[in-house]
Amino acid sequence: MQRSLDLLDSKTGRHTELISLYVPPEKQISDVMNQLRAEYSTASNIKSRTTRRNVLDALEKTMQRLRLFRESPPNGLVIFCGAIPQNGDGTEKMETYVIEPPEPTPIYYYRCDQRFHTEPLHEMLREKEAYGIIVIDGNDAAIASLRGRSLSLIRKMTSGLPGKHDAGGQSARRFERLREQGVNEYYKRIGQHANDAFLQIPDLKGIIIGGPGPTKEDFSKGEYLQYTLKNKILGVLDTAYSSEEGLDEVVQKATEILKEVRYVEEKNIMQAFLYELGHDTGKITYGEDEVRSALKRSIVRILLISDSFEESRLTTKCLNCDYSETITLKGASPEAATQKLEAQLCPKCSGNVKVVEVEDVVDELANLAESSGAQIEIISTQTEEGNMLKNGFGGVASILRFRQE
Ligand SMILES: [Zn+2]
Repeated sequence: MQRSLDLLDSKTGRHTELISLYVPPEKQISDVMNQLRAEYSTASNIKSRTTRRNVLDALEKTMQRLRLFRESPPNGLVIFCGAIPQNGDGTEKMETYVIEPPEPTPIYYYRCDQRFHTEPLHEMLREKEAYGIIVIDGNDAAIASLRGRSLSLIRKMTSGLPGKHDAGGQSARRFERLREQGVNEYYKRIGQHANDAFLQIPDLKGIIIGGPGPTKEDFSKGEYLQYTLKNKILGVLDTAYSSEEGLDEVVQKATEILKEVRYVEEKNIMQAFLYELGHDTGKITYGEDEVRSALKRSIVRILLISDSFEESRLTTKCLNCDYSETITLKGASPEAATQKLEAQLCPKCSGNVKVVEVEDVVDELANLAESSGAQIEIISTQTEEGNMLKNGFGGVASILRFRQE
């Protein structure tokens, strides 16, 4: 999906003539058809002849595709359609992409622009990992969960404690003692609610605690969260606000913490690889060919691919003679590689060549890993270890299930 979106993002039209259509699951297809018919009659007034023709064609194609659906699929559907120049002006070809999204399409959306609008799909693909958030200060607390970009409030609480200097007629010692008891009860209550909520999230990746004062530190150091949850605390951070406003602040600031968490994970994976290498255990391979062969024998436990690794394998055919060749291009996306090869002429007869088959090597390796049950880890170049994978091991490595003889 990520790669299809990258492909769609690389396409631009001559003018505003590319259609993006998002249909939510509850929307009637007949309503959408009516709206597209209205767009069609509006588009008939476009002055430029070429643009008019392209927009009308795209609308027609979109409606044709839509007609194939009696009703909107469970997650709705997304159609991209438009005339894409293949090789400069005048070489436009109508391209249509129908996508059934991984999550329900939230809104009805129609746009005609020079590019395809893929942002809502990108949003859906953002990491879907779950985190727990607690925002706490002396007066109130809020517990929430964060999955992908969506934050849901689980509970709000108030301490019910009097202020520090609010001793009234009581003796200062007695007041202080009661207050301490109250604070302890308050923390316990928060801990209990957080335990109830977070233990029910089976894939909880971590917990972030925020708040404006020192309360958050006292709470996170104390024995209020169940120990497995306490071990999942990723960080404690300062916020200007408490309660619900504080939650939004934590989400904004958490991006940095989560990035750091991922870097630590990547470092650990690379360290595990380097350990096997350094101890000569025979339980690793690196380099594209070695790793591919290990994947094919289903002995890979973890496949490590550098995010900088890009390679395409293309088969070209001459349109004129029987010449054909398969070429591997490093550092090139399938689209860039296709363009590059089609710009060259046949070495045999100088005729035009066409790319007839394209294979993305990252996809190929990932598919092999998936079908043999290997874990796939994309390693960024943001860490020293990540750079070693890129520069020292050809961008591809693996940790094996057992020793390779
Ligand atoms: Zn030729």
